[in-house]
Amino acid sequence: MTQDTPSIHDFDFSLICEYFAALERQGPGSPEVTLKALSFTDGLTLDSRIADIGCGTGGQTRVLAQQAPGQITGLDLFPDFIHRFNARAQAEGLADRVRGVVGSMEALPFADEELDLIWSEGAIYNIGFERGLREWRRFLKPDGYLVVSEACWFTEQRPDEIERFWVDAYPEIDTLANKPRQVQQAGYLPVSMFILPETCWTDHFYTPQVSHQQQFLQHAGNAAAASLVAEQRREAELYDRYKAYYGYAFFIAKKVA
Ligand code: SAH
Repeated sequence: MTQDTPSIHDFDFSLICEYFAALERQGPGSPEVTLKALSFTDGLTLDSRIADIGCGTGGQTRVLAQQAPGQITGLDLFPDFIHRFNARAQAEGLADRVRGVVGSMEALPFADEELDLIWSEGAIYNIGFERGLREWRRFLKPDGYLVVSEACWFTEQRPDEIERFWVDAYPEIDTLANKPRQVQQAGYLPVSMFILPETCWTDHFYTPQVSHQQQFLQHAGNAAAASLVAEQRREAELYDRYKAYYGYAFFIAKKVA
C-alpha cells in the first residue's frame, strides 16, 4: 500500500464513521433493488426472524421492514451507526419490530437455526464472501434464505488499474460466474442473482456524498479527513471509468440440508 493510494481500511474507524454516519447509505444499493431481491424469497410470516448484518444506519433495513413481516435485528460493528439506526426506527414507528444491536459478523449473537432470513447489503466482504456464507449458515432455519450483495467482476479480463485497486481492497472479488458456485459449495441453493443498476452507485451512493464532503471537510478539517474525502472521490472516478468491468450483484440463496 503506497501512501498516495490509501484504501478505506487505512483510515481511523471514528473518522470513517463520522463520514458515513450522516449518509442514508454506506454502500451502493437502492430501495428498488432491496425489494427486488426480497421478491425472490418466500415463506416469511409475522413470526419470522430476520437479521440484517452490517446494517449501517439502516437505509435498507427500513425498506425491508416495510415489505417483510417479522422481527428484524440489524447488527453493525459501529455503535454510532446503531445509535442512528435505533433513533430512526423509533421515529418511524418501527421500534417494536426493528432493533439495532452492536456486534460483529464474526460472532453473531443468534442461536442455531433461529433465523428465517439473513440479509446483508455491501457488507459480507468484511468477513469474506465464502467465510460469511459458511459461518452464517448455521443460524438459518432449514429452507431459510440468505440474501447478500457483493462486489463482482463482470468480465474475465480487466484493465490493470482497476484490477489492482480491487485486489488490494478486496482480494476475494470474483467473477459473476464463480460466485454462484461458491454459494452452492457453501451449502445453499443459488436461487437467483442480478446486477445492481448504475444508479445504485451514482444517485444512491456517490452523488449524495458530494455535498456532504464539503461539510465534512469544514467540520473535520484535518489531513486525515482530506485524505478520506480524496479517496472517496477517487473511488467514484474509478467507478465512472471502469463500471463496465465491475459492480455489485445480489445473490439470493436458500439453505439446503
Ligand atoms: N448495509 C449498509 C452498510 C454497508 S457498509 C448499506 O448497504 O448501506 C458495510 C457495513 O459493515 C458498515 O456499516 C460497517 O460498519 C459494517 N461492518 C464492518 N465490519 C463489520 C463486522 N466485523 N461486523 C459487523 N459489521 C461490520
